[in-house]
Amino acid sequence: MAATLPRQQLVTTALHVNHIKSATRQAAAAGAHEGWRRTEVAGGVSRGCHTKACFATQASQAWTERRVSLDVSLVSANTKTVTVTFADNTSSTYPFVWLRENCQCSSCFQNDAIARLFLLDDLDVHIQPKELQVKDGCLRVTWSDGHVSVFTGKWLSRRAFTPEARTAQRTWFMLPKVLWGTDFEVPYSKYSTVMHDDRALLEWLVVLEKYGVTVVEEAPTRVGAINDFIERLGFLKPTHYGKHFFCFLFSSPRRDYEIVTQVTPNNLAYTGARLGLHTDLPYCEYPPGTTWLHCIRQHQGKGGENDLTDGFHAAEILRERHRHHFETLVNTPIYFQDQGYALYAFDKITQKMAISLDHLGKVCRIHMSSQSRDSILDLDDSGVIKFYEALKAYNDVLREFSVCVKTKPGDILIIDNTRVLHGRTPFDPKTSEGPRIIHNAYIDLDDLRSKRRILQERLANDLSQGELGFD
Ligand SMILES: [Zn+2]
Repeated sequence: MAATLPRQQLVTTALHVNHIKSATRQAAAAGAHEGWRRTEVAGGVSRGCHTKACFATQASQAWTERRVSLDVSLVSANTKTVTVTFADNTSSTYPFVWLRENCQCSSCFQNDAIARLFLLDDLDVHIQPKELQVKDGCLRVTWSDGHVSVFTGKWLSRRAFTPEARTAQRTWFMLPKVLWGTDFEVPYSKYSTVMHDDRALLEWLVVLEKYGVTVVEEAPTRVGAINDFIERLGFLKPTHYGKHFFCFLFSSPRRDYEIVTQVTPNNLAYTGARLGLHTDLPYCEYPPGTTWLHCIRQHQGKGGENDLTDGFHAAEILRERHRHHFETLVNTPIYFQDQGYALYAFDKITQKMAISLDHLGKVCRIHMSSQSRDSILDLDDSGVIKFYEALKAYNDVLREFSVCVKTKPGDILIIDNTRVLHGRTPFDPKTSEGPRIIHNAYIDLDDLRSKRRILQERLANDLSQGELGFD
């Protein structure tokens, strides 16, 4: 077991989720997506359906379904769609235009590249079939121009237009978030385990995707250990502070490493000042998906802790308590900026909302940073007080539901930078015996989710049915 979750058995859920193959994800996904619901976050950490027994049941159902044939057994059509019934008695309706565009023949689809060859140029949105047949468990469509498309039941079922299938795909794409508050305990994993054990790595990826924060402990206390881990997952994301990474440090630099003491800090992180709850690099068009803080050496005295808070949870609380403030933050563009010289002279500016919503109205991204929010506002002067009231109200909720950790040497704090805000309590570098050294690096969520999917598929394939015996 890679992660320590004293209040939940989330790690077991990760294992069960990974056992579920793509064609039969629906059962687990239908339960898993419930984690997003606010009703499950009363008091902070979800106490919903994330138990071993619950996921075991869902996974067993999924496994049972998987063994049922998904051959096409029946079709019925109208002028726009065909409804397909599968051997397991489930069914879905497919529009003709969609079937034509997604013809799987070698002229229309390149299987090696997994890419469509058929172009919109040649698509008739109102196309109709000349003939529909069930043949060898497949749907066979002969189009009006004589072109023939054949679809297997398994392929069609995976792409069903039912609400359950759509939810399952949304969950596969991005695991549902479990929102948390003040009684959240940050999950810990061991560096050696996640570095060498793919199942442990998968569990860790699931935890990070669901909770948005983890600590990997017992990493080597050398600068660069973080790179080894990130390269196991994908690519480091460079920033204007460094080609590969940059470090926060105080007093003397390490001579064995190319770090220059920041006599004139070009970033507040290089000082001992309090850092308010923030997301990193909001002034980038594409801010990094995750931020990694590797504690090489910690400040010995008071301060230097990290505040952490779930920005999505806080946004939902704000929506509940002060809807008008929530609306203000969803609709007011904010300039974020960073100017200076590090690797090169930089002048970064973006315009973002503090709270972004997705097409379903769910909170999907947070941009907050008192350090980097510009003094230039794209607002009428009459809107300024309302804007500050909203920012303050959100900041109050963020503070109210924050938790605190002080990393020790060898800890890597990994944060979903789209969601979880982090801060740092102030400290006086002069009172410490040596420098506080935190190595900071970034990797995007694209790479982490991709790795999670790869491992889910691969470990499911590697496991025998016996190993899938959920007891
Ligand atoms: Zn074709």
